[in-house]
Amino acid sequence: MSHIGVLGAGQLGRMLALAGYPLGHRFRFFDPASDSPSSLLADHLAFDYADTSALEKFAHGLDVVTYEFENVPVETVRYLEKFAPVYPPAIALEKAQDRFVEKSFFRELGIPTPKFTINGLSHGLTDENGLNKQTLSRIHGEKRTLDEVEFPAVLKTRRMGYDGKGQAVVHSEAELISGLSHGNTDKNGQADGLILEEFVSFDRELSIIAVRNKSGDVKFYPLIENHHRDGILRLSLVTGNISSDLQKQAEGYATKVLSALNYIGVLTIEFFEKDGRLLANEMAPRVHNSGHWTIEGSATSQFENQVRAATDAPLGSTNPLGVCAMVNLIGNLPDATSILKIEGAHLHLYDKEPRAKRKLGHITFVEKDMETLQKKIDLVKEAYELF
Ligand code: AMP
Repeated sequence: MSHIGVLGAGQLGRMLALAGYPLGHRFRFFDPASDSPSSLLADHLAFDYADTSALEKFAHGLDVVTYEFENVPVETVRYLEKFAPVYPPAIALEKAQDRFVEKSFFRELGIPTPKFTINGLSHGLTDENGLNKQTLSRIHGEKRTLDEVEFPAVLKTRRMGYDGKGQAVVHSEAELISGLSHGNTDKNGQADGLILEEFVSFDRELSIIAVRNKSGDVKFYPLIENHHRDGILRLSLVTGNISSDLQKQAEGYATKVLSALNYIGVLTIEFFEKDGRLLANEMAPRVHNSGHWTIEGSATSQFENQVRAATDAPLGSTNPLGVCAMVNLIGNLPDATSILKIEGAHLHLYDKEPRAKRKLGHITFVEKDMETLQKKIDLVKEAYELF
């Protein structure tokens, strides 16, 4: 039995604890928000991530620390490392928290990405501080490659952007300049706070969830097909019809990241699929929304495997138990009865107050074939506006 500390106490933390209790583990959460979805399940310390005395209290008696939120300050993790091992390693957070660092890291490993540059530099623009392409290409003391990015393009904040927040599609130089003037610095006041990416007219969005333990054993879940609205995940599907070539590409790329970071825990990489090729969009060093189907749809859930990896236990099978769908409940909730009367519906509610764009729960179906699965999704659509 291990005492596991979790940074962040949202729904991912809640599902981690729900997976870890049957294995005999104890949990403790740390999250500045006091009314978090995990609060009912375990002790919860609600202090600022910079409060070192609160962190020390949190760490007392813990065997291992993990996190369920990738914007936990890296300094918080580094501080906690003095008291207990933290998995996944802090370096994974460093890579994932900045979209420019992350995409450059993918490139260094030979993982294809959409074209990208900082701000509008491929358009010959200098920012308000007079930084130009040359100086910016040397940030972090390394020479970075900046691509020529054509319109349409996607302008995103390098840090703190998620669920489509902090990003906009720009179609012209005028829109780019306007976008830059509306957010040219990030919260640290960095003048190079935005990344400009090629707009990819992808065929599909896919994610791979991988897990690696201390002994270096690695397992992969099958590629998941993801459908978004307004940049937020609405529906994930495990269809069973992913080609082995595509699965191999994704596993190969995930393996490179896992090895480069000497990774322990669950890692998710999100891809755009275009003409049979995968382009890496971003990674999350944690359990992921596109993996919620694994609770009922896989021999071992992503949450249990995260707990197993963090506690140095053998990894569980990642085999799917059928074709699966996970429907996110966002902003508002359906009447629970209308969902529960659909045969096979697994309803998960996160105990959160409804608010626009907020993830409040999800529904999973595990079926034998796609036709039955589609019927179930259609029944949900009668009770809930999905797209
Ligand atoms: P992200 O926060 O990077 O995961 O973006 C959220 C969603 O916006 C993605 O899942 C895509 O649907 C869309 N998106 C992000 N970047 C691009 C891009 N470069 N080209 C096309 N669509 C994108």
